[in-house]
Order: sequence, then C-alpha cells, then structure tokens
Amino acid sequence: MGASAAYHLASRGMKNVLLLEREQFFGLGSTGRCAGGVRYQFGTEVNIRLSLASLPMLERFKEELGQEIDYRKCGYLFVLTDEQDVYAFQRNVKLQHDLGVETEWLDKDEICRRLPMMSFEDALAGTFHRKDGLVDPNSVVMGYINAAQKLGVKTLNNTEVTGIRLRGGKVEAVETTQGSIKTRTILNAAGPWSGQIGRMAGVHIPVTPIRRQMLTTTPLQDIPSDFPFVIDFAQSLYFHRYGEGLLMGMSNQNESPGFDISVDEEFEVINMEAALGRMPLVEKAGRAAHWAGLYEVTPDAHPIYGATPVDGLTICTGFSGHGFMHGPVSGKLMSEFILDGKFSTVDVSMLDLARFEEGRLIKEYNVV
Ligand SMILES: Cc1cc2nc3c(=O)[nH]c(=O)nc-3n(C[C@H](O)[C@H](O)[C@H](O)COP(=O)(O)OP(=O)(O)OC[C@H]3O[C@@H](n4cnc5c(N)ncnc54)[C@H](O)[C@@H]3O)c2cc1C
Repeated sequence: MGASAAYHLASRGMKNVLLLEREQFFGLGSTGRCAGGVRYQFGTEVNIRLSLASLPMLERFKEELGQEIDYRKCGYLFVLTDEQDVYAFQRNVKLQHDLGVETEWLDKDEICRRLPMMSFEDALAGTFHRKDGLVDPNSVVMGYINAAQKLGVKTLNNTEVTGIRLRGGKVEAVETTQGSIKTRTILNAAGPWSGQIGRMAGVHIPVTPIRRQMLTTTPLQDIPSDFPFVIDFAQSLYFHRYGEGLLMGMSNQNESPGFDISVDEEFEVINMEAALGRMPLVEKAGRAAHWAGLYEVTPDAHPIYGATPVDGLTICTGFSGHGFMHGPVSGKLMSEFILDGKFSTVDVSMLDLARFEEGRLIKEYNVV
C-alpha cells in the first residue's frame, strides 16, 4: 500500500513524498509473505469493483512501470462442500455477472473432471474464473519502489515511525528512529501494525493481526502447468502451483490475535493431513519451505480508506487477507484522496473509519 501510494502520488506530480520503512528491505511485512493470489471472485460490489480496477493495473504493470511481475492467469477454482456456501456463492456469482465478471458455475462432475488428481467426492458445486491467478508480490513492491524513486520519491529503510506530533489536533511531524520529520500529511499504510501507528495519534483503528501460514513442496510431476488456484472453501484450505511443486495453506480459525510469525508446526500437521485428504499424491512430496505472515483483519473484512479524526492523518489498511491484489488501485485511490479530497477510480467512501462507530459494516463472505 505504501509503495503503490508513493508511486501514484508522485506520478500525479506531488513533491516531497517520503516513504518510511522500518525494515532493511521493502516487502518484509505481509506483502512479501502472501500467496500472490489475485481474483475477481468476491461477494460484495465494492470488492469486485476494486478487483475490476486493480487487476488490469497488474496486467499493464510491465508496460507502465517496466517491471516483470509474472502474472499467471491460472484461474481460481472454489470448491463448495457445504450447502450454505452454495447459496451464498450463487448470490455472489449473480452479483459478479451483474458487474461483468464471467465466473463459471461448476457441478461436481465438472470439478472432478478438471481436478483428476484431487478427491472431491463430497463437492456440491464450484466456481471458476479464468482471469483470476497469481502474481509475484515482491516484483510488484519493487516495481512501485523503483518507479517512485525515479519520480523523486525519497525512501528510507531502517527507519521506524515511533510517534506522531500533533498541534491543535493537526499533524505537525512524524517522529522516527532517524529523527523528527515535519509534515502536514501522513498516510498510515502499516498493514497489521497500523493500529500501533493510529495509537501514536490517539486514533483507534480496529485492525487485528492474525497469523496465517503456508508451506511449499518439492517438485511434483503430476501437477499440470495450468493447475488452478484451488480453494476448498469449507476448510479454508488452498493449493496452487509453486515452481515445480505446490504451495498449500490453510487458515486456522482458532488462531489468537498477535504479532507472532513463527510457524505453528502443530497446525502445519493439520494442514498437511487436510491436504493429503484432498490430494493424496502430496504424500510423494517433501516440504521445501514454510513461513507465516499476518492478516490485517477488520471487523467486516473490508479495508479502511481515507480520513481519521486527526487532521492530516490518513489511512489505508485492513485488507483482511486479500490486500495484495488491491494494492495497485488502493495506492491510486489514496493519491486521489490526498490530492483531490475524494475517491474517483472506485467509490470507496463507504469504507471509512467512521463506519465502525456508526454501525455501517459490510460483510464479505469470500474470505479465505
Ligand atoms: C499467509 C498470507 C497469505 C496471503 N495471501 C494473499 C493472497 O493470495 N492475495 C492477496 O491479495 N492477499 C493475500 N494476503 C494478504 C496481503 O498480504 C495483505 O493484505 C497485504 O500485503 C497488506 O499490505 P500492506 O501494505 O497493508 O501491509 P504490509 O505489506 O505488511 O506493509 C506494511 C509495512 O509497514 C511497515 N511498518 C510497520 N510498522 C512500521 C513502523 N512503525 N515504522 C515504519 N514502518 C513500519 C512494515 O515493515 C511493512 O513493510 C495474504 C497474507 C498472508 C499473511
């Protein structure tokens, strides 16, 4: 979010844009740890509209920013085994069709035909959209950073924000481990840590860090090159190709909030057993790597864009497990908000911080 916003602000001609990152390198937060999935299949109009704006920006990325990002349109295939999910997805697919997203509805036979190496005898239905797929997250981050730098954005690594100085309820400066920097405008794009930045200015941001983890396997010859991003929705279990092997993940619904990103090995066994149940050939593979990262979760699983009660402090956070794909458009939207005072590319005005106090929550069903 920070890299995309910095680029979009500079490309609109804004001077003196400074990007602060506490780590030695960019992309070490959630973005560099994510699964790289990008999809149009969502359950609310605003999320679908964000994808309709953001994914074409990824398609044009190389042309516009000169950086290869390895966009593979393998499609997302959601498999549904729970009757309630079938009803919810029927509604979602109708909404997707109304907005021009041509998601296919699959019956059990079609799912089994498309995934012969998987066991989905209990499948009730599924959905597939051929333009969903995978993109390399670090390439996107570095594409935005390099392009922003060329446009004059200054970037500071190893620089942690430690405080926000206010005067008369307005932002006056940001305090960092490298000293104090005067500014009238701050964009809080600290992902899972954005609540901490909010507290520095006395603003409550309802973003909870929740650990999510995944693992990759050694090469598996039987996985075809066009294997889709498969999601066993009821188990929150997913698989996609990763090099010559697979990447597999599963959301632990009992995970406690916190900043710990060590891999929970006990839960990894649960993930592996569930994966074996769906794809027995995984037994032939070894584990190549595993890691964990943090979802930045809001009470309604939608992001927060725009103003805070503090004059000059803006916010772009809370993407609840699907923020990487909405990074391009979100940075653009924040450049519009900061420079024009309104969102033009997509109307996200209903996703303001005030909605939590005013009870205007919008629930997203398609959360993995
Ligand atoms: C396991 C996993 C799988 C995922 N899979 C997908 C997926 O397939 N598709 C998808 O779209 N999304 C996915 N996501 C979600 C996605 O990764 C996030 O929504 C997105 O990366 C959030 O981006 P961000 O810029 O808000 O946060 P981040 O990428 O975390 O960036 C925040 C930055 O702020 C920095 N920072 C924090 N505090 C400070 C401070 N005090 N001072 C200075 N810098 C600070 C951090 O170091 C970090 O670099 C996944 C997430 C996880 C954990």
